[in-house]
Amino acid sequence: MTQTSQILRHILKKAESLKSKNLPALAVFDLDSTLFDVSPRLKQILHDFSADPTYRRLFPQAAEALKDIEMQKSDWGIRNAVIRAGLDHHHPEFHQSLREFWLKTFFSNEYLKYDRPYEGAVNFVARLQELNVDIVYLTGRDVHRMGAGSRQTLLHWNFPLDDQRYQLVLKPEQGLDDAEFKSSWFRTIPDEKYQQIWFFENEPVNVHKVREHHPHIDILFFDSTHSGKAHPPTDLPRLIHFLIEEGGL
Ligand SMILES: [Mg+2]
Repeated sequence: MTQTSQILRHILKKAESLKSKNLPALAVFDLDSTLFDVSPRLKQILHDFSADPTYRRLFPQAAEALKDIEMQKSDWGIRNAVIRAGLDHHHPEFHQSLREFWLKTFFSNEYLKYDRPYEGAVNFVARLQELNVDIVYLTGRDVHRMGAGSRQTLLHWNFPLDDQRYQLVLKPEQGLDDAEFKSSWFRTIPDEKYQQIWFFENEPVNVHKVREHHPHIDILFFDSTHSGKAHPPTDLPRLIHFLIEEGGL
């Protein structure tokens, strides 16, 4: 059994034990690059840019180079894909236009449908739900640009969401710092409400901040991709998927 599966099974066993004692537990999941692989969204953005008649006319060579670009799991944003297409030194007007297009599309309700849950994610969350664990999706996405799409995508993939025990928490406004927002949100949970809190997150900056301010929370580092603005934690459990590998729990 992989180390990731062992960690996940350990969490389910703990949840089962808490359930048997009627003790409440909470699992908090980040969305982008934790529950959901965003690389299909990124790929679609590059393809749509490439197919747009205006950009085709303005940047024929670059648009052609992006036509069949493939994303890699380690890509964070579109920068590495643009480098792989050989466009890193292309003229500034192209980079400016692509950046504006990316901002408009990546942070939009319309493009969230391209995201795909990571392997095992839907089932793992369902297992926690069965074990009476409350679920919160805590995301740096903001309500205005991505609230409706986030809700639709969660429901589409059968993640539990009822605004009571299963909640989606988004930034009220887009300018807020992600780490600050997430850490502050944890402060809103009454101290005695949960016996156990798990937090699943891929971004080291957020991991470090929450860890510093909320040492009682068990943080699971989801090792997919991140901003590179901070080193990944070396002494926290590390996950690379959500597959439990059933049998004997
Ligand atoms: Mg994330």
